Amino acid sequence: MIIIKSSDEIKRIREAGKIVGTAIKKIENLIEPGMTTAEIDDIVQSTITKMGGRPAFKGYRGFPASACVSVNEEVVHGIPGSRKIRSGDIVGIDVGVEYQGCYADAAATFPVGKISEQASTLINVTRKALSAGIEKCVVGNKLYDISHAIQKVVENAGFSIVRDFVGHGVGLKLHEDPPIPNYGLPNRGPTLKKGMVFAIEPMVNMGNYSVKILKNNWTVVTCDGSLSAHFEHTVVITPEGSDILTFW
Ligand code: MG
Repeated sequence: MIIIKSSDEIKRIREAGKIVGTAIKKIENLIEPGMTTAEIDDIVQSTITKMGGRPAFKGYRGFPASACVSVNEEVVHGIPGSRKIRSGDIVGIDVGVEYQGCYADAAATFPVGKISEQASTLINVTRKALSAGIEKCVVGNKLYDISHAIQKVVENAGFSIVRDFVGHGVGLKLHEDPPIPNYGLPNRGPTLKKGMVFAIEPMVNMGNYSVKILKNNWTVVTCDGSLSAHFEHTVVITPEGSDILTFW
């Protein structure tokens, strides 16, 4: 069942979203070669707690950190640690926050130092795919209109969209119904209604879309070792269209 949020709940999801956005913006400003992924996690954690939120990922199904930090061929769910990021890397940061019982979730992929032109295209296409999906968040549209719009942008650019991980409803819990695949046929699925809140999150691989999970039981990597990028926003459907709640 897709939960319709009250205006009071949306207010609190928006507050959670502000904290998520602030943490991601901070990383965008500070990320540089030589930083460890654990240092990134520390910055995210302190930003969240200073603003009165709780890192929603920490302890979720045993996840040990406040942010997922996924480098290069890591798709999502990278565990922060002693790895030093280097010039030429692309680094995905995924942050979830709980604020007064409400949740928001967002992610972005940032270049570190000088990256290849193809890596830069991958990042831009992934960001564009997320925007194309968000544009379909309109009352009366069908859920898979979002999925289809994302897939089209990615495949037209010659990249592939990950199948095994998908977006989701969010707000009163970190993960709610419905699952939101980033691929599919338009004009299908539940009808979008005012007050639905979605975490839309395309994961885009430069090579094949197949992925696998490493032995740490968390980190998802591309099977062919190609680079992967990830962008995510928490979005509420409004009478006029939609509103991004995780802005930076
Ligand atoms: Mg998510």
